[in-house]
Amino acid sequence: MPAYDPNNIFAKILRGELPCFKVYEDDKAFAFLDIMPRAPGHTLVIPKAPARNILDCPADDLAHVAKVAQKIAKASVGVFGADGVTVQQFNEGAGGQVVFHLHVHVIPRKAGVMMKPPASEKEKPEVLAEQAKKLAAALA
Ligand code: 5GP
Repeated sequence: MPAYDPNNIFAKILRGELPCFKVYEDDKAFAFLDIMPRAPGHTLVIPKAPARNILDCPADDLAHVAKVAQKIAKASVGVFGADGVTVQQFNEGAGGQVVFHLHVHVIPRKAGVMMKPPASEKEKPEVLAEQAKKLAAALA
């Protein structure tokens, strides 16, 4: 298993070196909108502590990320008028992982609407800003 790379994109977002549309933060977790959402409201939840994925993450940090993912899933149903929520988490390239800081995808879903393919289209910043504002308000 390769070592954690502190220069991955999400580590840079956590350090404030790259911008993001933040929706939630506490002492152990951070959540922000995916810039190439597979559906409106697609959110990524990450631990603040460095972890490449589920294979090296301390169990308590993983459990906390799961709690935050649940909180966001519940809030996103109201904010995005979702009929359901898809939660995904990928580990290593062979498992579908592209960014190597552990993250859980929380994707609000409408009945009968397919998800876009992964990383297929960047959402407009103004749309993401408005969505993040609404979701953050629902989580506050
Ligand atoms: P993975 O396949 O590793 O689980 O997914 C990585 C996710 O990160 C993808 O859904 C992709 O759209 C998203 N992503 C990639 N680069 C950035 C970025 O710079 N900012 C944000 N917010 N999301 C990103």
